[in-house]
Amino acid sequence: MLVLLLLQSDGQHDLCRIVEGREGLLPGEGALSEDMLKKMISEADKVKTHAYCPYSQFRVGAALLTTDHHIYTGCNVENACNNLGVCAERNAMAKAVSEGCRSFRAIVISSDLCEQFISPCGGCRQFMREFGANWDVYLTKPDSSYLKMTVDELLPISFGPEDLSMKKLQIQNGH
Ligand SMILES: [Zn+2]
Repeated sequence: MLVLLLLQSDGQHDLCRIVEGREGLLPGEGALSEDMLKKMISEADKVKTHAYCPYSQFRVGAALLTTDHHIYTGCNVENACNNLGVCAERNAMAKAVSEGCRSFRAIVISSDLCEQFISPCGGCRQFMREFGANWDVYLTKPDSSYLKMTVDELLPISFGPEDLSMKKLQIQNGH
């Protein structure tokens, strides 16, 4: 289900801080409260200012909320060797995994695109899928409006870690 709302961003929050308690989450569907979403958008907007993008001039920020209520942020980091650049979303997820967090509730993505919601690239969709298909991705605009989708909606009929252990033909020596 897609939900479109308009929020204001206050830009008052620190990066990578622990979210206390469970008040940021609504009961039931596990949807983020308006306050938590506002905070996440603010965090994504803030980390976007750290983007290293001398080649594309395309700044992206991501704020990732884990199920144990930590927020990890990431920006895109480009490289003179083009294909070594890393997206904001993957940087945020790698930071979380590096700190021992592999269970994700939502990620908010921010860019400077004014007239459309920033959309994660195919590589990041697959990277998200590694950690489950049923968590939320918020595609935002600089005015803090957003489009809420799930990983499954962004990457339907996906291939994930479970597929590696599904029944398959027997092979010998890789042939
Ligand atoms: Zn990407």
